[in-house]
Amino acid sequence: HKYVYDFAEGNKDLKDLLGGKGANLAEMTNLGLPVPPGFTITTEACKAYLATGREPEGLAGQIEAHLESLEREMGRRLGDPDDPLLVSVRSGAKFSMPGMMETVLNVGLNDRSVVGLSAQAGGNDRFAWDSYRRLIQMFGKTVCDVPGEEFEQALDDAKRVKGTKNDLDLDADDLRGLVDAYKKIFAKHTGREFPQEPREQLDLAIRAVFESWNAERAVVYRRQERIPADLGTAVNVVAMVFGNLGPDSGTGVAFTRDPASGAQGIYGDYLANAQGEDVVAGIRNTVPLQELERIDRKSYDELLDYMARLEGHYKDLCDIEFTIERGKLWMLQTRVGKRTAAAAFVIAAQLVDEGLIDLDEALHRVNGAQLAQLMFPRFQLDHEFQPVAKGVGASPGAASGKVVFTSARAVELAAEGEAVILVRRETNPDDLNGMIAARGILTSRGGKTSHAAVVARGMGKTCVAGADELDVDVPAKRFTVGGQTVGEGDIVSIDGTTGKVYLGEVPVTPSEVVQYFEGTLDPERTDDALVEAVHRIMTHADARRRLVVRTNADTGADAARARRFGAQGIGLCRTEHMFLGDRRELVERLILARTDDEREAALAALLPLQRDDFVEIFREMDGLPVTVRLIDPPLHEFLPPLEQLAVNVAVAQERGEDVAREEALLAAVRRMHEENPMLGLRGVRLGLVIPGLFAMQVRAITEAAVQVTRDGGSACPEIMVPLVGAVQELETVRTEAEKIIEEVVGDSGVEVLIGTMIEVPRAALTAGQIAEAAQFFSFGTNDLTQMGWGFSRDDVEAAFFWRYLELGIFGISPFESIDREGVGRLVRIAAEEGRAARPGLKLGVCGEHGGDPDSVHFFHEVGLDYVSCSPFRVPVARLEAGRAAI
Ligand code: ADP
Ligand code: MG
Ligand code: MG
Repeated sequence: HKYVYDFAEGNKDLKDLLGGKGANLAEMTNLGLPVPPGFTITTEACKAYLATGREPEGLAGQIEAHLESLEREMGRRLGDPDDPLLVSVRSGAKFSMPGMMETVLNVGLNDRSVVGLSAQAGGNDRFAWDSYRRLIQMFGKTVCDVPGEEFEQALDDAKRVKGTKNDLDLDADDLRGLVDAYKKIFAKHTGREFPQEPREQLDLAIRAVFESWNAERAVVYRRQERIPADLGTAVNVVAMVFGNLGPDSGTGVAFTRDPASGAQGIYGDYLANAQGEDVVAGIRNTVPLQELERIDRKSYDELLDYMARLEGHYKDLCDIEFTIERGKLWMLQTRVGKRTAAAAFVIAAQLVDEGLIDLDEALHRVNGAQLAQLMFPRFQLDHEFQPVAKGVGASPGAASGKVVFTSARAVELAAEGEAVILVRRETNPDDLNGMIAARGILTSRGGKTSHAAVVARGMGKTCVAGADELDVDVPAKRFTVGGQTVGEGDIVSIDGTTGKVYLGEVPVTPSEVVQYFEGTLDPERTDDALVEAVHRIMTHADARRRLVVRTNADTGADAARARRFGAQGIGLCRTEHMFLGDRRELVERLILARTDDEREAALAALLPLQRDDFVEIFREMDGLPVTVRLIDPPLHEFLPPLEQLAVNVAVAQERGEDVAREEALLAAVRRMHEENPMLGLRGVRLGLVIPGLFAMQVRAITEAAVQVTRDGGSACPEIMVPLVGAVQELETVRTEAEKIIEEVVGDSGVEVLIGTMIEVPRAALTAGQIAEAAQFFSFGTNDLTQMGWGFSRDDVEAAFFWRYLELGIFGISPFESIDREGVGRLVRIAAEEGRAARPGLKLGVCGEHGGDPDSVHFFHEVGLDYVSCSPFRVPVARLEAGRAAI
């Protein structure tokens, strides 16, 4: 079994086997870039080691052979006392993982070879001892778990004794003294001397990299980022080159474009006379990469040339780690770099302009989650506002408000119209009401899968979780951060995208991208690189997608906005809000009606009001289909709550007032009470039980359509019957509806479709029968999920989903992203059997899943005709529908 690959044997597509770092080192080697020679031990070897606790058979021999050939190539032997070869041992998994073990540099140094290294460097003792103390420090910390602070403390002590803050002022003797101090620290914590045998150093370091795969930090990180737990890490053994040989040496990082904005240019940092981690550790101030032009023109030009070559080769933004040893440039790492959402769009569009990728590829490189990020309102930050803490951006958005520490206080202040931010160490199910009342949620503990994060995302509420700089004292109603104390009522602002926390109220503006969609962007800015990139990629997504994107909208205003966002009709117009406000009274009359006449009178009063609502919506959606759902919720939702009525009756009686009406209402509420309203008298069941209710709605819809059409517009109503579980239910409603439609439509030319929601599992399983009576299906995936799993949507997310996520029972809430295997299977069955019974049956989805990127891909795969989602998600759905089609 081959466990070890020379750099020359690998390539960038072998990430599974060689890890990202190893695969890209191999790729650069084969491109002819100056990479120090070395080899990669595969993830297979790591997996075998982790499974058995021992290095697999044959690994030791292969390492030996590759080390020998490395020694031959370099003309030096590992740790040779006179002229040592040194190597670095670097972890590198398939996905870059900051939770993993760090690198050990300078492996091969010991009390003897340190002298040889000095001679090699022309008698540079300082450099040799500096390298040695770094080895003990990194080896101690990452291989043997010696607390890193102790080494740092010893380094600080040495600098203090010397009267300096700069480690460059430490000379060879100081560093030799530091090596002694480090060795003592090492021995104290490990109970043994620092290993002098080079090969033992190497083997221990390799083993430590293997084991770091299961380090707690790494496990937590993987769980959070949904990286599979069984990939293992590769280990790279690389001949050392030295950036700490003097002022003509140094180390740096570079990006081929700005990873924040995507702008072209030279981005990066350089630090002269330094090794490895110094750049990111912030030990000394780095200089902008441009300065390298002045410091070392030749290396700079060469680096720029390699950067251009890497970009051309990977056809994407690359980030690079490099070192210069006495004027000679070495490339130590590259990868396709991480970037912000804005940069993702801008870079994709630029690469199209440069002819490196086509528009399909550009579309592939961005995603709906990034677009959604660009659509959140943002803080208008100027210098006045500096973050005081940073946690995990757990649920995006920008929220400001008064700090409260309890759920009860949040509810109280919110009722007074105040914006509040609920601050907790962590939230639990008791905080639910406070979370609902708050503008945003801020916790000092937990991450992306904490209770706060999960629930907030479910509610679409801004949340920053795990801002651990915050010391939250709930009983004292205050938290402290960076020496400042913040009490109840003080204002904070939280950014759920970046995880940053600010004191005071940071002003909020709609994002540029939303202004672009809205058509309100200042024309001066329409050629802004980001807006232009979004425009081009969206246009391409629209050209590519097969799925039509509609919106869920109940009012003319929502319909108009969604249309500007690109909606091609309404997939779900709920009619229940048309029964609220001052119309409640009419609903009460309907419910209390004792005779047919009373009921008909109540319905007749509702009819014109409903018709006017529909007229407005049909006008806004002129020429596009509008699916109207007949009333769905249980009617008692429109009556006052039981307790309130009981109190009203008591008070009125006390005053000697006439309580007949209140008493009748109270009786009705008692009569209509249901233990499980979501499984009770609602949807089509209402239509079958309350004579004339659906008929009134069908008449209002049809009359509105006729009116709009007679006025020169074009209305395309689709009447949707909710909660159907059996074809007989639908047939009964349809027979009655068709009579009304025929009568109202007359010669107006209006066409009205009648279809059904598929949201009860039985409907999905008998879709073949139901299709005989339905002109379209619309999957109500919220209820289908609720009934498919037996999860009450209003209760379970807050109650226990965090635990389910923790246990990995599902990776994401099934209300957020469709459960492909279960609920999705019901959709697939219904789509297939429905179409088999009625070829060309129109299929859509109107649950919240219609705007979820992953779910959109699923709906594309199962062949639906459209998705429908809230207006704000329409652009996301358009983009993902385009991505699904390429
Ligand atoms: P990380 O994954 O944390 O970036 P790396 O393995 O890339 O860790 O190592 C960090 C840094 O150590 C590199 O950027 C480089 O500066 C330095 N380094 C690693 N290997 C070598 C080497 N063979 N010669 C010189 N410096 C090295
Ligand atoms: Mg590092
Ligand atoms: Mg690196």
